[in-house]
Amino acid sequence: MASSRTILIAGAGIGGLTSALTLAGAGYRVLIAEQAAALGDAGAGIQLSPNATRILQTLGIAERLAPSAVVPEGLSIRSARSGAEIAFMPIGQAMAFRYGAPYWMLHRGDLQTALADAVAEHPDIVLKLATRVEDFAIHSNGVTAQLRDDRGISEERVPAMIGADGIWSAIRLQLGDRSKPIFRHRTAWRAMLPAAALPDEARRPVTRLWLGRNAHLVHYPVRGGRLVNIVAIVRDRWDAPGWSATAARDELLRHFSRERWAKAARDLLELPETWIKWALFDRSDLGFRGHGPVTLVGDAAHPMLPFLAQGAAMAIEDAAILGACLAQDSADPEQGMRRYESMRRARVRRVQQEARANSRVYHLAGLSAVARNVAMRSMGGERLRARYDWLYDWRPD
Ligand SMILES: Cc1cc2nc3c(=O)[nH]c(=O)nc-3n(C[C@H](O)[C@H](O)[C@H](O)COP(=O)(O)OP(=O)(O)OC[C@H]3O[C@@H](n4cnc5c(N)ncnc54)[C@H](O)[C@@H]3O)c2cc1C
Repeated sequence: MASSRTILIAGAGIGGLTSALTLAGAGYRVLIAEQAAALGDAGAGIQLSPNATRILQTLGIAERLAPSAVVPEGLSIRSARSGAEIAFMPIGQAMAFRYGAPYWMLHRGDLQTALADAVAEHPDIVLKLATRVEDFAIHSNGVTAQLRDDRGISEERVPAMIGADGIWSAIRLQLGDRSKPIFRHRTAWRAMLPAAALPDEARRPVTRLWLGRNAHLVHYPVRGGRLVNIVAIVRDRWDAPGWSATAARDELLRHFSRERWAKAARDLLELPETWIKWALFDRSDLGFRGHGPVTLVGDAAHPMLPFLAQGAAMAIEDAAILGACLAQDSADPEQGMRRYESMRRARVRRVQQEARANSRVYHLAGLSAVARNVAMRSMGGERLRARYDWLYDWRPD
């Protein structure tokens, strides 16, 4: 398919698929190479705030997703030990009204499928599954990439390429960045349960955030309320890469003792027999720089801790800005890419830093935890939300 207007994207995660749609909207043809043989059900819950859903609305993805999205009434922040609510931050209609776009709780698979369906319907986008970008070389008029599939290696010559290949990005490494993602001494454990198996409180359309000593717990319904996503995050030393190590319930429960955790939270954690765990990494927030007609989006560019629930949202924002920059600089993708990188730097850095700060605040103990709870309680839900106007009210224009 390669033509003088083709852009190659490595990776069909949220960043790669959304970028394909914004670039096709800017008049490019797009070839996506994805190493996985199928897309869809891997991963668990993802929260998407108005800064991201606004872009999905523009791309026509929001209608596809609406039936499976859950709009939370609010975020209920609770003390792990007493179970009492510290603050309730209203979301629901109030947030949609304030920011002009909804806040959604989704299954990652539903989001990826909705994007992949839109990609499949677009005449200017081709998605090749089970195809890995192995290597590439930059030359005077573009990029030659080596793609590996079950028939062997083939070459694709294109004017520009985007690495949307996630936190362990091989494209980033080949661009010359030998630094590694930094382990932040936390592991996240996830489980997905049928809502019907859970008590009423856990099925309500509310995101519950329980704050404990060196651990916190988040749960919320997804897939139209039929499933409940549970994520427990603990201080830990296990640092293997990947999204899918299975883990034993007993190992997790050691971090959530009955003395320190309210019955409702502890009972919930006892329900799933097996958990999937992954170690949490990010990168320094010095920013990234592509080279020639090659740039990065999403986790490949700026992996972040999940404590602000912005990993997928930042990948979607990247796609919107990259599409706009390459539409404007269509004769010179390289210039458009450098502009995109400089436009993203300050915002992404702030999100990375705030997510890291939350990782400390959520896990406080003793008097520091008491002071945090008093501050949150006196601030109240509305003011807690207003602190994030800079994040949720962002627009690509
Ligand atoms: C399997 C999986 C499960 C996840 N689960 C969660 C979760 O439960 N909660 C959460 O908050 N976030 C999860 N994430 C991360 C979250 O999706 C991302 O932080 C966010 O959406 C940013 O997406 P991204 O497109 O930049 O990267 P990713 O979502 O990581 O997508 C990168 C894609 O690139 C592909 N790829 C990698 N190397 C190559 C290559 N050389 N050639 C071709 N393709 C390549 C990968 O197979 C993957 O599909 C998960 C990611 C994955 C891949």
